[in-house]
Amino acid sequence: MRRITILGATGSVGRSTIALLEAAPEGAFAVAALTAHRDVAALAALARRFRPDLTVVADAAEGMALREALAGTGLRSGAGEAALLEAASLPTDWTMAAIVGAAGLRPTLAALAQGKTVALANKEALVSAGEVMLAAARASGARLLPVDSEHNAIFQAMQGHPADAVEKIILTASGGPCRLMTDEQLAAVTPAQAVRHPVWSMGAKISVDSATMMNKGLEVIEAARLFGLDSDRIEVLVHPQSAVHGLVQFSDGSILAQLGAPDMRTPIAHCLAWPDRMAAAVPRLDLAALARLEFFTPDTKRFPALHLAREALRVGAGAPTILNAANEVAVAAFLAGRLGFLGIAELVERILDRMGTPPVVDLDAVLALDTQARRLATAALPAAQPLAAV
Ligand code: NAD
Ligand code: MG
Repeated sequence: MRRITILGATGSVGRSTIALLEAAPEGAFAVAALTAHRDVAALAALARRFRPDLTVVADAAEGMALREALAGTGLRSGAGEAALLEAASLPTDWTMAAIVGAAGLRPTLAALAQGKTVALANKEALVSAGEVMLAAARASGARLLPVDSEHNAIFQAMQGHPADAVEKIILTASGGPCRLMTDEQLAAVTPAQAVRHPVWSMGAKISVDSATMMNKGLEVIEAARLFGLDSDRIEVLVHPQSAVHGLVQFSDGSILAQLGAPDMRTPIAHCLAWPDRMAAAVPRLDLAALARLEFFTPDTKRFPALHLAREALRVGAGAPTILNAANEVAVAAFLAGRLGFLGIAELVERILDRMGTPPVVDLDAVLALDTQARRLATAALPAAQPLAAV
């Protein structure tokens, strides 16, 4: 029996992980901890079903509600930052790091400190604090498995091949819901349009990131960290069918790819069973029905976020931390109707220009820079009034 923890259990990736546990043979897994931000009802339902040793709601104000929701079950619950870190630190064999945004940084680090396996979905943590995270994994001997479908694909394609034979890797991008829009249409994209992804069903933040293509930019940085490659060895191709998730080109000219239906349960199952394989009841890819696989070079003029992220990776130091923090503020403002769609990349660029490339030597430096970038980005937002009302 393997003990597992899910950080961000109520989210899109968290629920896909839960779905795999539900389908697994009885007794295959025991749950150590489950956490969520503030969705107490959903979290309590999961806790009743899986009976973890600890159930935590990150928002301290929801602690009482969680205790009440678990009354009579004998289950231990907690609330707030310290409880979240305790949940991440409970001994496990495998942790799913699926909190969205830099909020996942400390809990993911706590999980890495255990020296076991961490399946990483929380790409923002790796973008914001790449060196700190990798150093934590090295120090404890923890294994970091990539959950993000592109990185998981590349990880699979690299298995059994010498690292020095890798010439380059290719991340595919669906192109998101705005792929074919004109400049005029892009300027008018609403939150409802941006979160309606044509292929993947995901949380709101990553859906907006997919629409701006910042998601692919974050993924280029994520890939650089995970696979130790420079930006010029990480290519991005728009592939609207989302059947090929990632490719690796080797020194002899061979390209190996991983394909599958666009369903996160496949990469999660790969991480859950690694180095074995487990059955997953996901739709199978029907290549004959698809008939065509298309690949295009991304248009960084219409989608400047991808270029901004590459630049942040190239200049290094604190730039990725700033990029991520400003983007989180911009996406939240866009979802709240305070910023137009094109304003997201504009704001990120402005904050990057303003802050330069301060060094980030340790976790405290990352957190301080993250806070400063959020403050500047928030101050640079247009005055609080619904855009539609103007
Ligand atoms: P989501 O919004 O659906 O879920 C996020 C989870 O984190 C929820 O359980 C929420 O309660 C928790 N959370 C949010 N804010 C928190 C906070 N401040 N403190 C503690 N917990 C908090 O997001 P998602 O789509 O599941 O994405 C999770 C992560 O996985 C993101 O980093 C995303 O980029 C990455 N990812 C997601 C997908 C996908 O298909 N959804 C694919 C690849 C990578
Ligand atoms: Mg991805």
